[in-house]
Amino acid sequence: MRLVLLGAPGAGKGTQAALLKSEHKLAHISTGDIFRHNLKNNTPLGIEAKKYMDAGQLVPDELVNNMVADTLKNLEVDGFMLDGFPRTIEQAKFLDGITKIDGVILFAVSDEEIIKRLTSRGVCRDCGQVTNINEHKKCPSCNGELYIRDDDNEVTIKSRLKVFHEQTEPLIAFYKDKGLLFEVEAAGTPDEIFSRVQKVLRNDKD
Ligand code: ADP
Ligand code: ZN
Repeated sequence: MRLVLLGAPGAGKGTQAALLKSEHKLAHISTGDIFRHNLKNNTPLGIEAKKYMDAGQLVPDELVNNMVADTLKNLEVDGFMLDGFPRTIEQAKFLDGITKIDGVILFAVSDEEIIKRLTSRGVCRDCGQVTNINEHKKCPSCNGELYIRDDDNEVTIKSRLKVFHEQTEPLIAFYKDKGLLFEVEAAGTPDEIFSRVQKVLRNDKD
């Protein structure tokens, strides 16, 4: 199964990818995570990407496209979930040229809810779990320390949302036209959203 997870920042793509991974043998490819990993290791790619990430802008297509092509080439399992890619029509066309996609899951959630989620989002330093910093002081899974992502501040969040509406939303029509789009209401608990995802996969895939 080859899936694209589509949705605004904070729509819950990463959380759902982790749940999907526990039930299906799929690689989780998060372009944001790959950039953050590169940044942590001070690679040229990480340093270049940081300029855009801090401003809430997209990293140039060419950089992202090459990185994804590389990652897909080196996959050890058959199926994958792309999380945070494609984010522009240009990226979607590039993806079309390198692999076949079985479905695109669109996580639909309001801007108001996104802002609420991102301004209270903490990430565990040890296991990467995302959690609400108003409800937890430590990671509920492993008791690790929680940190707030550099780009989860109000100014950058607004810019990321604007970029989403202008550059990423056109992908909805792009994939609808191909008959690949499946929309999931992304308000509620992670488990509630996950059962909607599973329902979509049962009805439309395999
Ligand atoms: P979120 O979905 O919460 O905004 P991500 O972790 O997916 O966060 O991405 C963080 C940042 O990494 C983005 O704001 C952008 O700068 C960069 N990025 C990630 N994926 C892409 C992509 N496909 N194209 C361009 N930039 C990207
Ligand atoms: Zn943890």
